Formats: sequence, C-alpha cells, structure tokens
Amino acid sequence: MRCLMFVCLLICSLPSFALDRSRVEGYLLPNGLQVILKNGYERDHVAIRLVVGVGLDDFNCEQKELPHLLEHLLFSGIDETGEGGLEERLQSLGGEWNAYTSSADTTFVIEAPARNQRKILDLLLAVIHDTRIDAKALATAKRIIEREDGGHYGHLQRWLDRQDIGHPASDQLATELGLKCPERSNLEDMTLEQVNTLRDRWYAANNMTLIVVGGLDRLLPAYLERTFGELPATEPEERRTLESIGQQAAQRRDLTRGWLGDSVKLHWLFVEPVLDNDHQATLDLLSHYLDWALYDQLRLRNGLSYGPSAKRESFGDTGLLSLNADLEREDIDQAVEVMQKLFDHLRKEGLDPETFERIKYASVAKESWSTQGNSALADYYWGALNDYSDGRFVNPVRKLRQVSLVQANEALKELLKEDGYVRIEKPLLGYDELYGLVALLLGLILAAGLLRWRRHAPEKPGGATR
Ligand SMILES: [Zn+2]
Repeated sequence: MRCLMFVCLLICSLPSFALDRSRVEGYLLPNGLQVILKNGYERDHVAIRLVVGVGLDDFNCEQKELPHLLEHLLFSGIDETGEGGLEERLQSLGGEWNAYTSSADTTFVIEAPARNQRKILDLLLAVIHDTRIDAKALATAKRIIEREDGGHYGHLQRWLDRQDIGHPASDQLATELGLKCPERSNLEDMTLEQVNTLRDRWYAANNMTLIVVGGLDRLLPAYLERTFGELPATEPEERRTLESIGQQAAQRRDLTRGWLGDSVKLHWLFVEPVLDNDHQATLDLLSHYLDWALYDQLRLRNGLSYGPSAKRESFGDTGLLSLNADLEREDIDQAVEVMQKLFDHLRKEGLDPETFERIKYASVAKESWSTQGNSALADYYWGALNDYSDGRFVNPVRKLRQVSLVQANEALKELLKEDGYVRIEKPLLGYDELYGLVALLLGLILAAGLLRWRRHAPEKPGGATR
C-alpha cells in the first residue's frame, strides 16, 4: 500500500519537473564547430540555429553590408534548380527557414519536423558549403537588399541620411556621437571576390555554433561528427574593434517626421555606464524600473502619454538607454518638465526600495516563463552564447537575484551623471499651425481682392478728383 502511494505521488509530481534550461549537451567537434543540443518541450519538432561569428560590425562603413549580401547569396541554390529548387526541397521536408545578419553575427534559423532533422541539416550544410555564387546571383541579391532597405539608394536618400532625416532617434544620436555610419554602404561597388573572401575567412567551422532544440534524434551526435565535422576550419580572425564615442552631440534636437500632425515622440537618451559587476542584469533592472517610473509619472499622475517606455540598445561599444513617450504637440514642455523632475528626484533620493524589490520580483518571474517552447529556447541560447561554457549557460534568474539595491543605486547615479540627450520627433506642421497658415493665406487673398476692388470701383459723385 505504502509502495502504491509512493508510485502515485511520483506520477503526480512528474509534470512539476521543470526543464533545466541552463544545462545543455555542449561540445566541440574536432574541426572546432561548437554544438549545443537540448531535448526540448515538444518532441515532434526541432528548432535549429546556425550562428556564424561574423556581423555588420566586422566591416567598416564602406563595406558594412557585405555579410548581409553573403547571407542572401547563400540562398541562391545548390544545383542547377537554383533558388526555387532549394525552396522546394525544404518544403517537401516540411521545414521553414530564414536568416538574419545583425551587428554581431549572421544566423540561419530553421523550424522543422523532428523526423526530418537530419535531412534538413544536410540541406543547411549544403547551403553553407555548396552554394554556387555567380555574377547573376550577386546582382539579384543586391536588388533584394536594396528593396529591403526601402528602395534604390539614390542621391536624395543619401542626402537625407546625411541630414539625419528619417531615422529613429537612437540611430540619429548614435550617428551624431560617431557610433554609427552616417550613410548606407555602397552595394553597387561590392564584388564577387570580396564576397568569396568573406566566405572563406569567416564561414569556417571554428567560427560557428550549431544549436538544436526539440525532439533530438538519437543518432544526431554521430551524424553531426560525420557531416558538419567535415567543414573546414581556418586560422581564427581577429574581430574588428568596435566604434567608441568620438564626437559631441547636441543636447536637444527636433527631428522632422512627416508633414502634418499633432502626435510627437519624445526620447530622452542616456549613455549607459560600464559596470564592473553584473553589468547586463543591473542595467536591465534599472531599465524596468524606469519603465515603471515613466508610466507612473507620465500616464497615471499627469495623463500626458499613453504608452511611455524604456529601451536598451547598443551601438558600437556603447549602450544607450532611451526613455520614450508618445505625446500631443502642446504637451512637450510639460512632459520635459515632469521627466526632469523625475530624474532630479532619482539623483537625490535614489531608487525606492519597495518598488525596486517589486520590479526585481516581476523580472525574475518573467525569466521563468518567457522562454517556453523549442524555438524560444533555441533563440535564448543564441542570444546568450556569451554566457555559455562547458555545457552550461549562466542562469539569468540567479543573475537578476544577485543585483542589490546598493548596486542598482550606484549604476543609477552613473547613468544620470550627465543630463542626457533629448530628441523630439514631430511632423513639420501641427494642425494649429496649418489653420494659422490657411487663415493667413485667406486673409492675404481677401486683402488683395479688396485692394483690386477699390482700385476698380467707380468714383463716387462729388468725390475728390486728382
Ligand atoms: Zn536581408
């Protein structure tokens, strides 16, 4: 009886065994390719991520788009059936893929049925290794990227880029500070030779990480060694030094967005300090805290903004924290004043301990439910590769818990040391200004009409004559 009870208890408690996300089966193939395998939540599906350690930041402004160009070229086809044939083969295996070039890496993202995982990996390997790149494919890829970037990069767009018109406020500030290129690199000048050199140097086994999460095939490790283990390795390339802040930026600027309207966006940006300990976790918590403080001040107490928010971004070697608010044009001054008061208060009093604990608790709780499912878990590993070693990812929950109020307050003090940068995005004309202009125009027309009428009007009898 007791034995039966124990079995019942064991069965009932089974679903509560949570997946330990931090532990994975991770190893290097003899050619240096890093493999990360994880039996995931759903058994009939696998999420595959092949991360190549080359991104936009590895190239200077003139060649920035080169890795993006190669990423597109790698989908040109592996035999005479070309791009279409490749897509058909993937479809017949039930898979879906995409690829992304970011500042730090180029990543191939695949979702597929678990039963076809080896065939799909065969196809991925062929894409990396066997894709034929010729002049025609190069021209096509250039046209696609041009369209992705919003059409042909003509003289007008180049000029507008230099005037910083049409970019989000953080991009604009990053350009002003010298952290971002002032204009797009010239795709037309990029050659087949440059693309091939990039491929030889950077698409090497020892510069790649393969992540597979889901219903893993028992034979997967042996298969990988036989196939991906054959990819050539190269002498590791030194990565380019990231841009640092090299120029001064205006403290406040208005940026024109569109022609007419009364909605504006206020962005208040601060350069993130570099912290000795728990850098990411501390700044994440600070950003969540400020997100709440903005909501409290701008929406709840003053009703100025519907959805204010805080956001962290990085440009070159520098992090920017932006505090953003959607506003009515007439409320700009009041919002600036409310935010200034909030910062002054935080500089003087620091974080409210109770609020900090609540924000921290919510952030920790979110960590445990925000990476559900194979794909989300695979994406999480992709984003956390810097925190990985020997089959273990640093536990983000532990990192968040570690951050103390004292630590957060010190970081806050550093963050708010300077006044920050204010960028206001607004349309050229508000409705009031438009009505004013129309009234002025009507007035002018009326005055001109009146003048004409008086000139042509018949003289009154008995009036003075010249
Ligand atoms: Zn693209």
